[in-house]
Amino acid sequence: MLQNAGAFLEGVIARNPAEPEFHQAVHEVVESVWPVIEKRPEYRKARILERMVEPERVVSFRVPWVDDKGEVQVNRGFRIEMNSAIGPYKGGLRFHPSVNQGILKFLAFEQTFKNSLTTLPMGGGKGGSDFDPRGKSDLEVMRFCQAFMSELFRHIGPNTDVPAGDIGVGGREIGYLFGQYKKLKNEFTGVLTGKGLNWGGSLMRPEATGYGTAYFAAEMLATRGLDFQGKTVTISGYGNVGTFFIQKVNELGGKVVTIGDEYGYAHDPAGISGEKLDFLMKLWTVHRRPAKDYADKYRVEWIPGKRPWEVPCDIAVPTACENELRKPDAEALVANGCKCVVEAANMPCTADAIALFHAKGILHAPGKAANAGGVATSGLEMSQNSMRIGWSREEVDKRLHGIMKNIHGACVAAAAEFGVPGNYDAGANIAGFLKVADAMLDQGVV
Ligand code: GLU
Repeated sequence: MLQNAGAFLEGVIARNPAEPEFHQAVHEVVESVWPVIEKRPEYRKARILERMVEPERVVSFRVPWVDDKGEVQVNRGFRIEMNSAIGPYKGGLRFHPSVNQGILKFLAFEQTFKNSLTTLPMGGGKGGSDFDPRGKSDLEVMRFCQAFMSELFRHIGPNTDVPAGDIGVGGREIGYLFGQYKKLKNEFTGVLTGKGLNWGGSLMRPEATGYGTAYFAAEMLATRGLDFQGKTVTISGYGNVGTFFIQKVNELGGKVVTIGDEYGYAHDPAGISGEKLDFLMKLWTVHRRPAKDYADKYRVEWIPGKRPWEVPCDIAVPTACENELRKPDAEALVANGCKCVVEAANMPCTADAIALFHAKGILHAPGKAANAGGVATSGLEMSQNSMRIGWSREEVDKRLHGIMKNIHGACVAAAAEFGVPGNYDAGANIAGFLKVADAMLDQGVV
C-alpha cells in the first residue's frame, strides 16, 4: 500500500532509471493529486496511481531506411500506449534527435491528462523516432516514414491507437505515413489525424493548437480583468503552434515581439503581423528555414544562443520544447513585470520556474490544459471521420473555443474544490486525473 508521495516517487525513479523527464512529469501530477488520493481510499486500494505510471504497452522497433546516397541508416522507433481507460490511445509522433523512451513516456503521461481534459473520448499515447527530418530531402523523409509505418501499422488503428503530428511531424510526414498505412492494411480509415483536407483532414486542425492556446489565455486573463488588447507577448518558436498563435493574438489586439529556435531568437519590437506574419507562416512549414531568416529579412535584432525570456513582456508563451524556461528565465520574467505565462509546448517550464510564478502570483497555465486545442481538434477530426462528413471552419472553431472554455472552467473548479484556488497546474492535474481514475475503477483491474 502507498506510504506517502515521496516514497511513491522514489519507487517510480527506481523503476524507471535514466528517464528524468518522465520523473518530472510524474512528480508534478503526483504532487497535485496526492491530496485527492488521500481523501478517496478507493483509488489507493485499486492502486490507480501505480497503474497510471506504468504504460499499458511500450513498442520499440528498428527503422532501417536508405538515404539519397544509397547508404543504409538505422533509427529507433517507439510508440508508448499509456492509458486507454477513456478511449483509444491518442497522441502525436515526434521526430527529433532528442527522442528516447523516457521523453516519450513523459509526453504520453502528460497526454493522458490532457486528453481527459478535452472532454472527448481519447486515451493517452505518444510515439516517434530519433530521426531528424531537418536537412533531409523529401524523398528521404518519405522513405523514412514508410519504414517507420511498416512496423507501426500492426500496433495502431482507428479504434486502437490514433497517432498525429508533434515536433518534426507535420502535414508532409502525416501524408507519407498515411499512404503507407493504407497500402499495408488496404483500408482507408481515420487512423491518423492532421490529415490533408482532401483525404479526411479537418478544417482548423493546423490552427487549433495556436488558436486554442490564445483562447485559453484570454479566459485566464479575464479572471483578473485583463485581455490581450495592447499587451506585449513573447514566444519561443515559429512553427505550426507559434505562427497560428501569433495570428490569433493579433486578432485579439496583442503584439508578439519575439520568435526563435534552438539557435537563438529574433526581437521585433514593432510586432509580427501583416506581410511579416505571412512570411513567417511559410518559413518553417514550407521552406524549412531557420528563424534567423526572419531577422535578416526584416532587419531586426537576432540574439544568438538565447531564449526570449529576457525580453520585457506582459505574457510569455513557450511554444518549443520541454524545460526551455528555467528558474533564471522565470526570475527575468518576474523582474520585467510579466503577468501571465501560458505553456503552448509540453512541460516547457521547470518545476522551480513554476514554483516562482506561483509564489509571485503570476498566472501560469500548464501545457496539458492550455495547448489541448490541438488534440481536441484531432478528436473532432476523428468524429468527422467516423460520421464520414466534414464540418465547416466555423463549426470546428466554435467547438474548439467551447472546449478551451470548458477546460479553463474545469481547472478553476478543481483547484477551488481542492483548496488551491487559482492554481491552474493543480486544477488541470486533478480534473484530468479524476476522469481517468474513475474510468479505471469502473473497468476493474485490467
Ligand atoms: N502532439 C500534439 C499534442 O501534444 C497533438 C496530438 C494529437 O493531435 O493527437 O497534444
